[in-house]
Amino acid sequence: MMELPAAGGCLCGGVRYEITRQPFSHANCHCRSCQLATGGAYAPVMLVPTDAFSVSGPLSEYQSTGDSGNEVTRAFCSNCGTTIYARTTRVKTMRPVYAMTLDKPEAFAPELDAWVDFAQPSVRLDDRLPQYRRDLPAEAAGLPPPLGRRKK
Ligand SMILES: [Zn+2]
Ligand SMILES: [Zn+2]
Repeated sequence: MMELPAAGGCLCGGVRYEITRQPFSHANCHCRSCQLATGGAYAPVMLVPTDAFSVSGPLSEYQSTGDSGNEVTRAFCSNCGTTIYARTTRVKTMRPVYAMTLDKPEAFAPELDAWVDFAQPSVRLDDRLPQYRRDLPAEAAGLPPPLGRRKK
């Protein structure tokens, strides 16, 4: 469990945010869009309830179509360019927050790997964690599981 509230921000310090409830999950996202948005092989993200995330500072946004086919808007510092969070048309109740922007990034504790079809060959996946070839399961984003997958 992450210590709350958890605070973070961008490289120049202009953008600051606070998380006041536990994320639905912590995930490593290997999708191509996250690779491009962050310049990293994958993006550690916390899937935070939207109403538990507050942010201030000079943000710009960029909208693109994700590998899922959904519109994904990423918000980054207008001054230094650090990618801070995203929002998707699929799930309005959740914000993926780029976890290495935490003041205490060691609080990030990955629970799964998503979009591993796009994982870079240089990356060694932790085989103790569940891997999803494409998008992460609904539950990890705070949504009810799809019909048919409820309680076995
Ligand atoms: Zn900045
Ligand atoms: Zn991604």
